[in-house]
Amino acid sequence: MMMNVPLVLTSVLERAETIFPKKTVVSRTASGIQRYTYKEIGERTRALASALAELGVKRGDRVGTLAWNDHRHLEAYFAVPCMGAVLHTINIRLPKDHLSYIINHAEDKVLLVDRQFLPLIEAIKDELYTVRAFVILGDEAEVPETALAPVYAYESLIAAGDRRYRFPQDLDENEPSGMCYTSATTGLPKGVVYTHRSSVLHALTLGLVDTLGLSEADVCLPIVPMFHVNAWGTPYACTYFGSTLVLPGPNVTPKVIAELIEAEKVTTASGVPTVWLGLAKELQERPHKTDSLRAVICGGAAAPKGLIRLYEEKLGIPFIHAYGLTETSPLVSVARLKSYQNDLPEEEKWEIRATQGLIVPGLQAKLVGENGEAAWNGKEMGELWLRGPWVADEYYKDERSREAFTDGWLHTGDIATIDEEGFVKIVDRAKDLVKSGGEWISSVDLENALMAHEAVFEAAVIAVPHPKWQERPIACVVLKEPYQATTSKEDLLDYLRPQFAKWWLPDDIIFLDEIPKTSVGKFLKRALRERFKNHLTSASDPSMA
Ligand code: ADP
Repeated sequence: MMMNVPLVLTSVLERAETIFPKKTVVSRTASGIQRYTYKEIGERTRALASALAELGVKRGDRVGTLAWNDHRHLEAYFAVPCMGAVLHTINIRLPKDHLSYIINHAEDKVLLVDRQFLPLIEAIKDELYTVRAFVILGDEAEVPETALAPVYAYESLIAAGDRRYRFPQDLDENEPSGMCYTSATTGLPKGVVYTHRSSVLHALTLGLVDTLGLSEADVCLPIVPMFHVNAWGTPYACTYFGSTLVLPGPNVTPKVIAELIEAEKVTTASGVPTVWLGLAKELQERPHKTDSLRAVICGGAAAPKGLIRLYEEKLGIPFIHAYGLTETSPLVSVARLKSYQNDLPEEEKWEIRATQGLIVPGLQAKLVGENGEAAWNGKEMGELWLRGPWVADEYYKDERSREAFTDGWLHTGDIATIDEEGFVKIVDRAKDLVKSGGEWISSVDLENALMAHEAVFEAAVIAVPHPKWQERPIACVVLKEPYQATTSKEDLLDYLRPQFAKWWLPDDIIFLDEIPKTSVGKFLKRALRERFKNHLTSASDPSMA
């Protein structure tokens, strides 16, 4: 028999403090770039924990953060769970009623707030029933006049705190360590609670060479916000492995990303596809030195094949496509070729690289169709169900758990195929599929094809109600500047025609200046569906003829 040593985040921090005290965390803040060693981060983290204990935070209490990706947020990432409390990372871009809902629902006792987000909290302060203290993430000089009370300056708490504070030694690995709310399609956000055990196992998984292979030698730049599924687990993994962390702070633009990559010699950066679209444009317009990059990691929405090829063939930057959800911590699968697939024809290899990939060790998947389990033959579609040690088994105090979890499986709401080799291909989110005349059209496939066209910058395909076919696809397209005057709807339809069955072709292509984005940078298809819901029912609709 082996020792039953609990998997707790304290051991993650302690490893960095004792084995990598000289390695650094680079933090871009409103007042410039700051550098801290893991030794300093450890001391500041302990001081924060002691200060939070003074403020009355007890075991199991929730502490909310409204913060950018910076060193203070990283300190909260460890101080809160390691003292036995629960870190609630709040999505700063939620609408006001959702913000107050999740703070009350999580029963946050203390809020750590970046000065920039103070107005958000001031606007809802009378609706917050559980918060006892507000901590502004800065020094005394950065605490503005505010109607909130009591208010503390983070740096004063750190200065007065105990840098040698000892975390409780009796933490159970199944105690909650963090929580994050995911936006529901309709209705209020749903809470997911992570445990110490799930967080540690997930962090370890990011180090496997067949997943992301994060290691000590990496300089990691998480562009994905720390309020979006724990920045995909990178803060915990990087601290565990002693990797250098580059935290990009507020107002991250493609230019900021390019400059950080060059200046800090970043080796891996992670973000959603729109981030990579933006960076590619920046790099093509203003070249930067990016040869330190061993991979950009793309997830959160489907990475179009054209984007992967652009990075690898034109920019010379390796590209890793991964898939996951808030409910799964998030890592579920990574698209890497198997060793014996290296000899496949080029086209086939790109196809595989654009799938969502192979389920990572530790998780299990199945496809559930209308008639039971679907076969893994790359054709039969079904909803992807998942289980594993870092998959939620309920939403926090939420009746909607009943539909989303059955018999120990999470129903992802994603419609997928899995091929004989085990590669998962997300066909669409169930809610984004276009249901045309009893058949399904994948908005993702059409978007991918459109975004491979040289004139197209971004494309979102949505289902629009249709009197005869129930729904038909229309494409909303943003053209690259140099092509705006010369590219027509017909050009794009001609380009799609040989690639798809006739009934898959969008009924219309609408040129927009911008595709609206969700709070975490994904295409906000809900807004487009709302805007164009009558597009095919008006008298002028050509498809009515
Ligand atoms: P939200 O619903 O707010 O987007 P999440 O960030 O948890 O919440 O999103 C998870 C969903 O994002 C998945 O269910 C899936 O639909 C989509 N997704 C994530 N990664 C990918 C990917 N690589 N390819 C396609 N879809 C993805």
